[in-house]
Amino acid sequence: MNPNLPIEQISGIGKYTVYKLKRLEIKTLADLIYHFPFRYEDFSYNTQTSNLINGQKVTLKGNIWTIKNIRAKSGKFLTLATLADSSGVVNIVWFNQPYIIKTLKPGTYVSVSGKVQIEYKKPKLLSPTYEILRERTQLPQTLHTGRLVPIYPETEGLTSKWLRSKIASILPRYTAEVTDFLPKEVSKRQNLINLNQALTKIHFPKSIEDVNAARRRLSFDELFTLQLAAAQRRKKWQKERRAYKFTVEKTKFEEFLKNLPFALTSAQQRAVAEILKDLQRETPANRLLEGDVGSGKTVVAATAAYFAHQNNMLTLLAAPTEILAYQHQKTLEELLRPHNIKIGIWTAAKKEDGDIVCGTHALLISFKPKREVGLVVVDEQHRFGVAQRGKLASSDKQGKSPHILTMTATPIPRTLALTLYGDLDLSVLDEMPIGRQKIQTHVVPNFKRSAAYKFIEDQVRENRQAFIITPFVEPSESMATVKAAVDEFEKLKEIFSNRANTGKIKLGLLHGRLKSKDKQQVMADFKKKKFDILVATPVVEVGIDIPNATVMMIESADRFGLAQLHQLRGRVGRGKHKSYCLLFTDSNSVNSLKRLKSMENIYIGFELAELDLKTRGPGEIFGLKQSGYVNLKIADISNQVLVAQTQKEAQLIIDKDPSLKEFKNLSQKLKSLKQDYIQPN
Ligand code: ADP
Ligand code: MG
Repeated sequence: MNPNLPIEQISGIGKYTVYKLKRLEIKTLADLIYHFPFRYEDFSYNTQTSNLINGQKVTLKGNIWTIKNIRAKSGKFLTLATLADSSGVVNIVWFNQPYIIKTLKPGTYVSVSGKVQIEYKKPKLLSPTYEILRERTQLPQTLHTGRLVPIYPETEGLTSKWLRSKIASILPRYTAEVTDFLPKEVSKRQNLINLNQALTKIHFPKSIEDVNAARRRLSFDELFTLQLAAAQRRKKWQKERRAYKFTVEKTKFEEFLKNLPFALTSAQQRAVAEILKDLQRETPANRLLEGDVGSGKTVVAATAAYFAHQNNMLTLLAAPTEILAYQHQKTLEELLRPHNIKIGIWTAAKKEDGDIVCGTHALLISFKPKREVGLVVVDEQHRFGVAQRGKLASSDKQGKSPHILTMTATPIPRTLALTLYGDLDLSVLDEMPIGRQKIQTHVVPNFKRSAAYKFIEDQVRENRQAFIITPFVEPSESMATVKAAVDEFEKLKEIFSNRANTGKIKLGLLHGRLKSKDKQQVMADFKKKKFDILVATPVVEVGIDIPNATVMMIESADRFGLAQLHQLRGRVGRGKHKSYCLLFTDSNSVNSLKRLKSMENIYIGFELAELDLKTRGPGEIFGLKQSGYVNLKIADISNQVLVAQTQKEAQLIIDKDPSLKEFKNLSQKLKSLKQDYIQPN
């Protein structure tokens, strides 16, 4: 069976079901097989009706004796049945499933699993799971009852029961043909079970031990292949790429530092030293610079770009949005002013060459360098696919590749970075420039909403500005998202015009469906203080420096990852004024509130990211899910032991056989995964 077989072509899956499966991101046979249970209902205790204890989870086998529907006072249907086995009878109640009566006719031999409730000494089962058994002579093999029953992520109209049946019918054929891609030596060293065993046991375990063994094997697979791909990329990079070796003169460096408007933090010094060391090598740098918003990544990049220029080479700085490209141009102009370096800009709309060229994707498409490109800086790494990064880094006519410095404000926890970006060297800015203020953060209950508006109004009266992020509708800049933002904008205009009694409070709106020219205009106007409050969609990039903004108010805050909230929060507190972050949520969940509350006292991006990693998994870390980088179905990436084990094994294999010639199956598996991982977004 071809793992990539589209689900449409699996027998017994109709058009409508295909649509529902796609909601679960199941598009192929393999997707279905790799749709793993997230828990198991333990119905493995098989007993008899005479033997029931209150509260116990049991499975009973017997014949339906009586069954009827009645209507409760509430108007809802109750199905009342009795089930008889050789030891006696038990009552069963189902709620609102009147159709059951059509399948469970009196006399039907069934297995039922559920929790026992004993009232007035009479045991009954409430809404048990049931399945009809055909073989009454032999011990029947049950699927939905009488065992550890897998519970799957579901979607409306697609139940665990359906998924279970479907998977059970396909799995034996799938596992019979599946090739185990893991090298024997690895599974032996790591004491892992076969792939086909693992797939069988994850869906239909006989015991918790089965579940654990299967989880370990399948988690190992996910992390191991990631690590292997990274190790392979690193090896290839080192082997095949040659860069221009830069000369870095100490006197020039000192002069450069002297001309900066500030002294570097020690974290910046460390990062600068690391990148300058890279630049003096023949193997091109491939470094990831991680640092919170405001930690001062730009000056690190500027230092590297300065030395590219000293070595007569061009630097390209690629940003995910035009706004950011322009901002970089401006910042670099300021930092490099004493050195007479021309900073160009290259976007779809504007094309201006320079010694350093800041730009968007347009750099990939239409920019033709007139000199050697010595350095490529990519800002906000996860917005560019790996493939695009590769294109920026492709080698020139002389066969040389530029040095690559990738910057991200996403506080990717170290374990995650090591796994995802195992091919990159890592520099971390874990320190803020001195004098940076803490942004006072509050989770605001809904009943204090108007007080919050009043607070914003007061700030505006003191000549400050505010951001308001509109409610989260969808994780994309869809029409629905934009409509919600426009509605919210109108509502807010109303609110603030009613409140303002001295002077009028003006609002501006920014959303992703605006033309890029208009977006820039809005941001520029906000910066010029043509209006006081910028209302923006959750998705839109508000990455601009507005030192006068002091309030960041975020609706539906629970829908964001903490790291993402932290990033939004970093848009204020950039000037000398005390700043605030107000988090609103409609959620009443205790956990979700507790999670948000951590924003009130944690101010380090990495810590927040670690917290999210533990409580919500890697997908929640800003953008990673959408970016298609992390698509871990089962592995817990915060499991440091497993991360270390997989890393070690991957390195052993790659050192031994870098092109995986001896490991055909593994190589094939990796190729099929790469298509998943390296999707430009
Ligand atoms: P980010 O890491 O978010 O890209 P930037 O590079 O934009 O941060 O820096 C944020 C602000 O901090 C800028 O205004 C920059 O001039 C300033 N800055 C950077 N490094 C220092 C420093 N060592 N001391 C004081 N201010 C600094
Ligand atoms: Mg930046």
